[in-house]
Amino acid sequence: MKNLSVKFKVTIWFAVIMIFIVAVTFCIILWASNSVMQKNIQDNLIETVEDNVDEVEFFEQLSDVQSDHGDDQYIAYNGGYLEIDDDFLDRVNGIITALYHNDGRLLYGENPLAMVTADIPFSDRTMRPAVSDGTTYYVFDCRLESDGTEELWLRGMVSENQGTGQLNSIIRISAIALPALLLLAVIGGYWIAGRALRPVEKITEAASQISRGRDLNKRIGLGKGSDELHKLANVFDDMFSRLDEAFKTEQRFTSDASHELRTPMAVIMAQCEYTLEEPRTAEEYTEALTVIQRQGRKMSRLIEDMLCFARMEQNGKSYPMERLDLSALAEDVCSDMSLIMDKNIALEWHIKQGVFVSGNRTLLTRLLTNLISNAYRYGRQDGEIIVTLDETDEIILTVKDNGIGISKEQQKKIFERFYRADSSRNTEGTGLGLAMVKDIADYHSGSVEVSSNEGEGSVFTVRFPRL
Ligand code: ATP
Ligand code: MG
Repeated sequence: MKNLSVKFKVTIWFAVIMIFIVAVTFCIILWASNSVMQKNIQDNLIETVEDNVDEVEFFEQLSDVQSDHGDDQYIAYNGGYLEIDDDFLDRVNGIITALYHNDGRLLYGENPLAMVTADIPFSDRTMRPAVSDGTTYYVFDCRLESDGTEELWLRGMVSENQGTGQLNSIIRISAIALPALLLLAVIGGYWIAGRALRPVEKITEAASQISRGRDLNKRIGLGKGSDELHKLANVFDDMFSRLDEAFKTEQRFTSDASHELRTPMAVIMAQCEYTLEEPRTAEEYTEALTVIQRQGRKMSRLIEDMLCFARMEQNGKSYPMERLDLSALAEDVCSDMSLIMDKNIALEWHIKQGVFVSGNRTLLTRLLTNLISNAYRYGRQDGEIIVTLDETDEIILTVKDNGIGISKEQQKKIFERFYRADSSRNTEGTGLGLAMVKDIADYHSGSVEVSSNEGEGSVFTVRFPRL
């Protein structure tokens, strides 16, 4: 059973249940029609016998009889005559009625079951069964009551099989129609199961193509629909899209990172080769080493940043969270960085006291340092930087400068790794600073956004949930 397809299993279960239902229905139909029929047979017997009671009359003399009773029959009885009316039904619809005397003498009519019914005593208006040759007959007696007939009985008989022709045809029709309908239902069920499960085949196909060919562009593409399988397919498609995106980002990051590492490496190698070509003076060695040191620093910063990204992706192991005083942390960073005095820029801070977050000290320091160093780097001569920390229904940290600003187009991209706006090409930097700010904000379940006008300055706003 385990190796069968779901389609096949569903069909088998369906067929078994259908067979059971059909069999039960068939039995119920048979039982119900049979009991209705037996009831009918008995009711007919009672009605016929009771009707016949009125058709037998006793007359003392033949002259008492009215003459218009043409086909009536007369039997000498007890010194007079019994008139059997022509309406007396002695054989109708398989019901036989015969007239008896109390002592068992048959006076009128026939009784093909005489041998069987002889042992059954007369009993007024009671239905009794009599079995002959394996067939049950119903016997019903009625005592006559009119004057002179008090010792006479009418006995009616009918076979339980009377009218079974109808029942037989019901059985015959059902025996052909029900299996045919059953077959039709099973074929239909198999077809429906196949149709309903077709999307599963598509899902399997797409998933196996992706895993075989590592082709993350492939989609199931079931289209619109709100049933379970469409939902499943759409969830898979979403997942493939996200995997695809993550995979591409990862690839881009790796290639960008190696590219960024290659440049300082090439400078170092070239510097070494050039310097080692011939003996140099002490100043020349110092100059060469300075270049190498600068490039080395750049590389080490890059490697450190990449490590930081990688560690954050490991979720919480390298950067454990603790309850920390963000106000104190911000004040420390600001007072340290205010010493930079680059371009004669003044750094101001307005920090609300006692703002606590659940966070990691290293990462939050890095976030604020990156934002403030950008404000310095892209700030104007004699400009200013204002850092604020506030707590309302969330914690809001802003870094505002009045520097070169960022165009709307670039604002969309500055949080991407290695993105650097054209205007800042000439300055140092790798374009990882804001990407790290964003990842750190995400890591703390927060967010970061920028609002800026070119030439006027920028405000970076970071939001954290309250502790
Ligand atoms: P890194 O920080 O890695 O040394 P970077 O500063 O160039 O390099 P990001 O901090 O990610 O990289 O910033 C990306 C780009 O966004 C910058 O190149 C710059 O063009 C722009 N930018 C960032 N901060 C500001 C700012 N305060 N004012 C104007 N432009 C900014
Ligand atoms: Mg930066």
